[in-house]
Amino acid sequence: MFAMPELPEVERVRVTLAKHVIGLVVSRVSVRRPDVVHGPRRRGCLLENQTISGVERLGKQLALVSSNISGEPGPCVCVHLGMSGSLRYLPPDSVDSLAPHTHVVWTLSSPRGENGGRIAFADARRFGGLWTFGSRENLVKSRWRRLGDDALSVSPAVLHRRLSATRRVVKAALLDQAVIAGLGNIYVDELLFRARIHPLAAANQLDSAHVQRMVRAMRALLREAVHNGGSSLRNYVDADGTSGRFQKLHQVYGRAGCSCVRCRSKLEAATVGGRATVWCPTCQPRRPAAAVTTKKD
Ligand SMILES: [Zn+2]
Repeated sequence: MFAMPELPEVERVRVTLAKHVIGLVVSRVSVRRPDVVHGPRRRGCLLENQTISGVERLGKQLALVSSNISGEPGPCVCVHLGMSGSLRYLPPDSVDSLAPHTHVVWTLSSPRGENGGRIAFADARRFGGLWTFGSRENLVKSRWRRLGDDALSVSPAVLHRRLSATRRVVKAALLDQAVIAGLGNIYVDELLFRARIHPLAAANQLDSAHVQRMVRAMRALLREAVHNGGSSLRNYVDADGTSGRFQKLHQVYGRAGCSCVRCRSKLEAATVGGRATVWCPTCQPRRPAAAVTTKKD
């Protein structure tokens, strides 16, 4: 079963990492597996001798942002966890040895030169990787420009415009990172269930009331998932090595054939856009979206 970290899991990594590393200096970078690094691989490009000034996120991607000793913007490393990647913070007193498949290690120190621990990027299946940029601005102008708005902050009007522009079914459109960034198979199914929208509804048939309902459900769902540490189906952990609990609260994902938590109907399943998809035939009836709003009764 594929279970790629989605927005809530990546946001947890961001928050747990940021709490430890902002303000620390990268004293050394060790690249054990150069082919996970895309773009210039000089150690300076991987933040050596720079101060970590921020840990940012857009959709499922993270960025370690740096500044130089005088506080001017420095290079930036975009981190994609792919299917199996992890970004762990190892404190100075950590006795843990590095996980297998650790490809890059940043050794940190405080501005006064005290041991600041390490950051370790590991990725067994190597669907993830690191992308180096001369500055945060370059990342935003190139790699991140291809992504849609972040699922936690997208406005209903923007999402409605994006969905109106595609003839795909809504499930496939929401999985497309260029339409909206951060959702994957788990949270799209959960979100459509909460918003009572059938996964095979045509994206361009959803009216603004549907999209508003969807955005409200999406924000609530993602916040709840972040609050619960994200979903750990295989081996996802945050930067502190803590697993998520949200998988216990999934209402449709992974529950094909079980009864709906709301109405007890048997949940249905099909493959949509190549992904296993589960929905409730009663709570998410399949009907032309337009008919719902034009009905006179
Ligand atoms: Zn139901």
